[in-house]
Amino acid sequence: MGLLKELCTINLSEIGRELHLFAAKLYPICRSITGDGIRKTLNVIQRKIPLQIHEVQTGTSVFDWKIPKEWNIRNAYIKAPDGQFVVDFQQCNLHVVNYSKPIHATLPLSEIRPHLFTIPDEPDWIPYRTSYYNEDWGFCLTHNQMLTLEDGDYEVSIDATLEDGHLTYGECYLAGRSSDEVLISCHICHPSLANDNLSGLAVATFLAQHLSGRDLRYSYRFLFIPGTIGAITWLAQNKETVERIRNGLVLSCVGDAKGFHYKKSRRGDAEIDRAVACVLRECNEPLEILDFSPYGYDERQYCSPGFNLPVGCLMRSVWGTFPEYHTSADNMDFILPESLGGSFQACVAIVDALERNQKYINQNPFCEPQLGRRNLYKATGVESDGREINARLWVLNLSDGENSLLDIAERSGMSFSLICDAAELLNQSGLLRVMPA
Ligand SMILES: [Zn+2]
Repeated sequence: MGLLKELCTINLSEIGRELHLFAAKLYPICRSITGDGIRKTLNVIQRKIPLQIHEVQTGTSVFDWKIPKEWNIRNAYIKAPDGQFVVDFQQCNLHVVNYSKPIHATLPLSEIRPHLFTIPDEPDWIPYRTSYYNEDWGFCLTHNQMLTLEDGDYEVSIDATLEDGHLTYGECYLAGRSSDEVLISCHICHPSLANDNLSGLAVATFLAQHLSGRDLRYSYRFLFIPGTIGAITWLAQNKETVERIRNGLVLSCVGDAKGFHYKKSRRGDAEIDRAVACVLRECNEPLEILDFSPYGYDERQYCSPGFNLPVGCLMRSVWGTFPEYHTSADNMDFILPESLGGSFQACVAIVDALERNQKYINQNPFCEPQLGRRNLYKATGVESDGREINARLWVLNLSDGENSLLDIAERSGMSFSLICDAAELLNQSGLLRVMPA
């Protein structure tokens, strides 16, 4: 049974609930681009799928970058002159600017203010801020909280370490019949942020679990990496593997209530770009296709000119365009079980399309074969509108070894699954043969 047909027998709303629970388990962890938050996250993922965990030393050169110092945080707070906590890291890990250097001092409010960040337009939300490559410290709080601060001396404490250590990432490799690979990549470096971070990693984990142990045409490589520096590190250290990547997908922001957005690879017409467009147009959710741009998630690195890999990015809401983006409102209520389940289903459909998209050769190319004699001139489905027969005729006509099933679906305007079903039936009847890769 194909991956997608089997999915029809699975309870998707149950998978959606499981995805949401899985994300909820990871939500409280304070992640960053290095440190124990990433290790804890990978350990949770490792309970579901075979995951190799890599540690790359601080100072290691990766293309134009260097692995930064490792950051770990235990606690942080600001105490008002009356001893009350103004902000408390234990309440919300977004309160500390991610990668803040340690500090413990008593300072007048005027000296603290430049280190405080709020969102005046959303006065009840806490922003998410980072300072990875510029050693500094800071706190994030709600604007309403900031408005209550009165002059006086405040105790600021960030109990963190920023020292030589490692960058950690996880890799799950599922071997298929071919060494050609499909890359699935997600970032795992954001603290308590649900859509931007946890939704992608949850769907990637469940997809790896779903594909694990199957007879697959492609090999699949799942990367759970810190954004930007993680992708750069992996690319720098895996140049030989890179050459085997035939298709790839970055997953992010796949848990909110909106329809799908797919950002095409830099190539624009790669198999993955066409497969996603073809497959997601058939699903019941809205789909918008976006051209490549050199900003966004790790597709920026995979699609840098030196690599130019066929890697696109699947999202629901696009990063930076929804008000909850990089704020405390991107929480577990912002991602929905049904959206996560729908994204998982879409990913399975995309993988199914890549697995099935082959070239066939018509074994009877001189005029049409007599389909009636082979019982192929009547529809097997409930529709008797001839679509199945037309799909067979399209597949027979265009299966000259030049056209893939995706080419045939695009040229005929018929659904990809109908074309695939036709090809598989004709293959069984001996009228087609799979063209060797
Ligand atoms: Zn982000």
